[in-house]
This record gives sequence, structure tokens and C-alpha cells, in this order.
Amino acid sequence: MISKEQIESVVNAADIVDVIGERVDLRRSGANHKAACPFHDEKTASFMVSHAKQIFKCFGCGVAGDSIKFIMLYENLNYPDAIRLLAARYGIEIKESFSYQNHNKTDDDKKETMRSAMKLATEFYHQNLLNEIKNENSKFTQYIKERGLTEEDCKIFKIGYAPDKWHALKENIKFKDIDDKLLIEVGLRKQNEKGNIYDLFRNRLMFPVFDILGNVIAFSARTLDDEIQPKYVNSPESTIYKKSKVFFGFYQSKDTVRKTHSMILVEGNMDMVSMFKNGFTNTVALCGTAFTEDHAQTMKRNADNINILFDGDVAGKKAAFRTAELLISNGMDPKIIILPDELDPDTFLKIRSRSELDNLLAKGIGFIGMFFLTYDKSNMNASNRIKIIDKIFESLGRLSNLSESKVAAFLKEASDRLGIGEESLKKDFETFRKSKKSNYRSKAPQIEPTEKYVCDKKDLFEFNILYLMLSDKKVCSEYLRTIDESYFLNHEATQLYMKFYELYEEGESINLNNILVDFDDKFKDFFIDYTASQEGVFLADIDEGDEVGLEIKIDQAFKDSFKKIKLRFFKREIKKLYDELKFTSDDVENEERIMKEIAEIKSQEIEIGNS
Ligand SMILES: [Zn+2]
Repeated sequence: MISKEQIESVVNAADIVDVIGERVDLRRSGANHKAACPFHDEKTASFMVSHAKQIFKCFGCGVAGDSIKFIMLYENLNYPDAIRLLAARYGIEIKESFSYQNHNKTDDDKKETMRSAMKLATEFYHQNLLNEIKNENSKFTQYIKERGLTEEDCKIFKIGYAPDKWHALKENIKFKDIDDKLLIEVGLRKQNEKGNIYDLFRNRLMFPVFDILGNVIAFSARTLDDEIQPKYVNSPESTIYKKSKVFFGFYQSKDTVRKTHSMILVEGNMDMVSMFKNGFTNTVALCGTAFTEDHAQTMKRNADNINILFDGDVAGKKAAFRTAELLISNGMDPKIIILPDELDPDTFLKIRSRSELDNLLAKGIGFIGMFFLTYDKSNMNASNRIKIIDKIFESLGRLSNLSESKVAAFLKEASDRLGIGEESLKKDFETFRKSKKSNYRSKAPQIEPTEKYVCDKKDLFEFNILYLMLSDKKVCSEYLRTIDESYFLNHEATQLYMKFYELYEEGESINLNNILVDFDDKFKDFFIDYTASQEGVFLADIDEGDEVGLEIKIDQAFKDSFKKIKLRFFKREIKKLYDELKFTSDDVENEERIMKEIAEIKSQEIEIGNS
């Protein structure tokens, strides 16, 4: 708990113009300051900051508040964490007391306890490493040297070593009083099916993942022996760790990022550390996950220039492209850097040089350039041109929230590179877009951050399917694999289904808490309310204790919803194929294939409709 007095002194110290000015380019405007709003897309500055009133307000999207509220929104923190961040910034000491034993805790207390356990573990592993590398002859010291890590690097990133033991943590006096339950919850220990509890990380090089406040919230642990799979073991997600929201290394690189408004994104921890020690101190890495919308938003808030520097192999290129698209759809203009000879950044820096990488970074490829990568410039025949145009159209079609001026600029660049008239390319794109209109959503209205999650009524049965799988394990195990994520139309329902699948595959228990960990509070509130209301519906005319009756009812309800979702999915597929058909004039073979596919889906549709 943070005391009232402490909060007050933070509020007094954190001048709003300072706090916001450190993160956003503020310009004076009369008695106030203004800027382009960091919370919505805009060109004209409608984000105002009043020094006299110590508040901010955006006249575009309506977001408003004081300096604490700003930090909560901008840094994605809850209230106490926003206070902690500002306290650290202004040199105010926050004294908090807690114990590992007390079980009636608020959520914030619990998070604090979890972070403290992670802090102890970080120190433990780190101290281990420092002890171990004193021994010049140890295998571990050799390994560290081979990876090119110095003691200094290990200190900056608090890198550690997890001993080759099943109970190293519990053998340490500092962990003696910490409940295993807590250690399991933060992912330091694990319980197997037989009930045995053991350390999750053994004989591994430990990379702590820090949050923006400098708390360790997870570990990414690399094996010392490349024969051992998996190469990396990562902490499971927890109340304090959401991998889709965190960048590895952001805590260390944030100062440079904010000073230069630029960021380099790499794939692996070792890449990040290597880049950092070679002077690229604005580098961050993904935490063993694909790039997400949340990542894009964090980047957008912190930088104007993004360089995507993934591995030079095919998988790396693909991932880089997908990442670029997501950034572009969030209004950014990323550049991709392709490393030669399929190298990753770490290896590149070891066998080439820093200055060579500098040169590559200066020559990053923009969005349109990416489509030309695999084609030889000197051999740009008609068929290649068409392939490129198809891919550009498809991608621009997907990027439904791009501004028209941006689309026009991309098309102009494409027409220049292809040597095709700009006007005719634009016309073709319009035709393409009209034919895809069903898939092409018009600009979504900006949602105010304070609004509730709103679900289209037509999508509700998708949530019903998820609710039913959640309430009945049998239903879940019977049907989970027969559903495909593409059956869902609602974005959150799709995400939720994927989370279900992930947990199920990992053999984790599935409950309301752990399937909702990745979602924002708005959606959590919505889904919890929804399940509560469905519970009422299902129990309404079931006698107490009538388990069989309830089971039958749930099973029937599931089948009904499942039928609906399938039929809707088929409709979408057929529509898509007809759209495609409009585009395949003169291509008889393709036309035949599409007609055949349509016929197949239609017969399935009838079959299900009759069932
Ligand atoms: Zn705004």
C-alpha cells in the first residue's frame, strides 16, 4: 500500500507540463501547451495541456485527466504503478510493506508480492552467474565467452544462471518462507500431474524481462547446450506478465528511444543485447511471441522511426512483413532491413561490423519496396508486374484504416517503381476495392478510452460458444479441435478462442481468469458480465442437482451455436470466392477451381442446414 501522503507528494512534484513534455512534443499556445494527441490519430493538434489547472484534454477523442491519468494511459499502467513511476522519476521514496504470508490481499498487494519474489529470483540467478564466472575453467564461463557476453553486459541486463538442480530456489534461505503456490503463480516453480513441484528453470542462462518501472516480470531462459530442446524456456503469462504487451530490453533502451524518437525491433534476446552493446541502444526485442496490436501502440507512443531488423531467413522476412503491415495500419511508417546470408543481428555484428550495420540501417526498405524484394529489377516482365500489383492491392485492401492520402502516396510510389501510369493504377485499385467491399471495412470511429466494450448483437452467439466450452469441460474437449479460429468473425471472440486453444494444448486449466489475462479491462468486464448472465439463463429451468439435465441442455445449446457459426463462416467463404471470381476474367482454369470450391461449400452448407 502507498500512503495518501506519499501520493500527495508525487502529485505535487509531477508537473503536468514536465510529465507530458518528456513524452510528447508540446508547443506553447497562449496560456496552454498543445500537441498532436498521442491517443488517437490526428494531424491538427487538439491535445491541450493546462499548466494552471494541471490537466490535459484532447478535443479530438475526449481523453482528459491529470498527470497520473496521463501516465496510466501512456505507459499502460494502473494507478499505483503510475505513482511508483513518477515517484522514481522525481526522487520520492515510496515505502511499502508487505509479507509473503498474508493471504487476504488486494490485487495490487498480490502483484507486489509476485514482483518481490521475481526480484529475489533475479538477484539469486545473477549472483550465481557472478560466482560461476569467477571460475575460468567452468563450462559456463566458456559458454558466456562464446556468446560474447562480458561481466558488464551481464550486470546491465541482470543476466543470471539457473543451477542444474530441481530445487535450487527452495534450498536458498531467502525463499524458505515463500509459499510454493506463489512461486508457481509467477512461473518460477512448476507442478506436474503427479503433484511434484520443481524449479522451472534449470541449467539455463537467465534473461530477466523488465517492465517499464524496472521490475522483473518474467524470464527468458536459454539452454547452455544446443542439443537440448526447447532452446528457450519462457515464463508463463501471469497477473504481472503479458508477453504481447512487453518488449525485452525496453527498460534499458527507453531513454535513447525517447531522446531519438526511434526504435529498432529485433527478434531475439541475444540480438537485443548484442545491438545494445554495439551502441544501438534504442533496440528492443519480442518476448518469444508474434508482434501484436499492443506492441504497435507502444511503439507508436514512443517513436516516429521504426526499423524492423529480423533474421535474414525466409521466416524472418515473413515475420518482418507482417510486423510492418501491423505498424502501417497503426499509422506508422516502418522500414525493414534485410540482413544478407540469412544472418541474425547478433551473428551479423560478430562476423561483420557495426559500421556495416549502420549502412544497412540507413538503407531501410519502405512498405512498397518490400513487394519488390523477391523480384530481380533487371527482369521486370509483365507477369512479375502483375504479381506485385496483386500483392500490393491485397495488402492495401487489408489495411482498412489507412488514410486516403497515404494510400495515394503508396500507389504513386508503386507506379513509379513499376513504370505504370499513376492514374490507371489508382483506377485499378478502386475497382479492386469495390469488389472487396464486403471485406473492406470503412474507417472505424475512434473509440473513447472510457467507453464500455460494445459487442455487435449478431456476434453474441460466438461468445456463447466460448461460454459453453468454459462451463463444461466435456464440451470443451469434445469440440475445441473441431472449431477453427477462422469460424469466428468477432475480433475478441477469435482472440479468446485462440487463448482457449493455447491453454488447452499446453494442458493448463481453463478458467475465466486465465483466458482473460491478455484482454483489456473493458472486454474483461463485458465477458464476465456475459458469462454471469448466461449462467442465469442455463440454470433457470434446471432443478438443483440435476447434473444430467444440465449437461444435455449445454450440449444442445452448443450444437445450436456451432451450427450457426459454421453457416455464417460458409457464407463468408462463398462470398469471398465470388469476389475472387470477378477478378479472374480470362483465367478459365482458375474460374473452374473457384466454382468447384463454391459447390463444395454449398453442399456442406445444405448438409449442416438439414442436420
Ligand atoms: Zn485524442
